[in-house]
Amino acid sequence: LYDAKRRRRGLVPASLDTPEAEELLRAITDGELVVRYQPVVELRTGRLAGVEALVRWQHPERGLLAPDTFLPLAEATGVVDLLGARVLRAACHEVKAWQDRTGCRASVAVNVSGAELASAAYPARVLRALDDSGLAPSDLVLEVTETAFMDVPTMDASLSTLRRSGVRIAVDDFGTGWSTLSRLDQLPVDVLKLDKSFVDRVVPGAGCTPVVDAVLALARALDLEVVAEGVESAHQVTALRDAGCDTAQGYHLQRPVRLEEVDVSRAVHAAA
Ligand code: C2E
Ligand code: CA
Ligand code: CA
Ligand code: CA
Repeated sequence: LYDAKRRRRGLVPASLDTPEAEELLRAITDGELVVRYQPVVELRTGRLAGVEALVRWQHPERGLLAPDTFLPLAEATGVVDLLGARVLRAACHEVKAWQDRTGCRASVAVNVSGAELASAAYPARVLRALDDSGLAPSDLVLEVTETAFMDVPTMDASLSTLRRSGVRIAVDDFGTGWSTLSRLDQLPVDVLKLDKSFVDRVVPGAGCTPVVDAVLALARALDLEVVAEGVESAHQVTALRDAGCDTAQGYHLQRPVRLEEVDVSRAVHAAA
């Protein structure tokens, strides 16, 4: 990657040259990235529906770093492709082992960057990760942001391929990006993740907001599942459940943790 000739030919983004970028690339190849998992809870029953895989950098000096400290650099340098591949493989292997250990059949959602989706090799990479780990395709959800949906023209085909093999697709941060609304009925998707900014406006004294109610109605009409993100209060859990929202995740239910710390019984009580 540091080969000067390739760099001159423009095959390597110039910004990979900085010490920060070199350190990030080294960290990825040295296995310093780890995955934390945040439970997704079924609101009607309180059951654990799945977990979302969230990347962290276990930095030798600076401790456990959140993605906002290194993802922008990973995206700018193209390293996000390698990062995503590592997270996907780790998540499939770790969740399959956890399923076998606990007897629990929860799914795992993995965040996908636009750069990964732009690669024609992406579907094969996902299928290989499933094959190698033994995770069932129906236990994997790929989370794609609205913006990535609009930016990557080849994406519908890739996602359709994966969907045919049983993998589910979620629109992440729904309602915040380049609106997918006009194409929503044609996109190869199964799940809408209602962005935290909408959940934040659900406050005591009323039910859900008109916008949340409208998204839930839209999802029902299109037969899509809804996951509410960033639920921080008991009131939000009740209001979302009463409005017919299927599932939710947030600090009120559980923060991102190691898989061993995902407590099925606690998840059951959290939304009861
Ligand atoms: P996201 O996909 O929207 O993930 C949800 C973020 O909200 C996570 O932040 C999660 O820890 C946080 N969160 C969950 N519940 C609550 C809550 O109740 N209150 C608040 N204030 N926050 C809550 P995190 O882990 O820092 O990740 C940030 C973003 O980084 C993610 O946003 C996602 O876009 C991106 N990301 C994380 N892991 C990956 C990855 O493996 N690949 C890619 N491409 N992006 C990732
Ligand atoms: Ca996500
Ligand atoms: Ca999200
Ligand atoms: Ca979000």
